[in-house]
Amino acid sequence: MSIEKSQAIVLKRQKLRETSVLATLYTKDFGKISGVMKGVRGIQNKSVNFLEPFTLCEVVFYKNKRGGLYTISQCDLLDYFFEIRTNYERIVHALYFIDLLDAVTQAEDSNSELFELIYESLKALKVSKKPAPVKSIYEVKTLILSGFKPRVDSCISCDSPIGEKAKFSSKYGGLICYKCCAKDSLSHDIFKGTLASMLHIEKSDFDSVWRLDMTSRVRRQLSHILDDFIKFHIDKNIRSRSFVNQA
Ligand SMILES: [Zn+2]
Repeated sequence: MSIEKSQAIVLKRQKLRETSVLATLYTKDFGKISGVMKGVRGIQNKSVNFLEPFTLCEVVFYKNKRGGLYTISQCDLLDYFFEIRTNYERIVHALYFIDLLDAVTQAEDSNSELFELIYESLKALKVSKKPAPVKSIYEVKTLILSGFKPRVDSCISCDSPIGEKAKFSSKYGGLICYKCCAKDSLSHDIFKGTLASMLHIEKSDFDSVWRLDMTSRVRRQLSHILDDFIKFHIDKNIRSRSFVNQA
């Protein structure tokens, strides 16, 4: 593989030896990659310091001849997101955002829309007074873009149109009608406002989606539904989620 250059959000960083770092990056053009940035003659490369979780960088990298990891030869900082790093609630949300992105993506499966989503979500987070709605918006859009979208147009079990009332089933992955809901004893009623918010997030672009206004009970229910759905379908053990829920 030739030498490549791409913008990237740092997902993980691990010190390898005194002078080198192993980083997992979500690149705009190549998807998720893992690469090593080495120091020179016992001196740490200063750019290594830019490879912090959720920084935006421009990286130059190439694949080693024997395959496996990439070598990151250059890293220029584009956004350190200081406004996030100075606020605990924002930090735990940003760490959760990158962990969720890591959980839904496979290595080298490029998806520039997912890159745009994480970047726009971090930008929204750094100016947010309340991170919770940013989190719900990020989660809904992540589920859609990574193929885990909850089905909300008709009953997930029998396909019949959803009338006035429906329940939400995490197990089945969407709305379930009153006739079928006995199949999932954990399915529960969903407010019209919660459903409308999910549909609004799905349809809206990044210029308007952050202006979504939810009542506190809709916000709480949407957060609860997404939390349950992600635990069931993606990963029970995203550790940073527990910090977000306590923040
Ligand atoms: Zn049904």
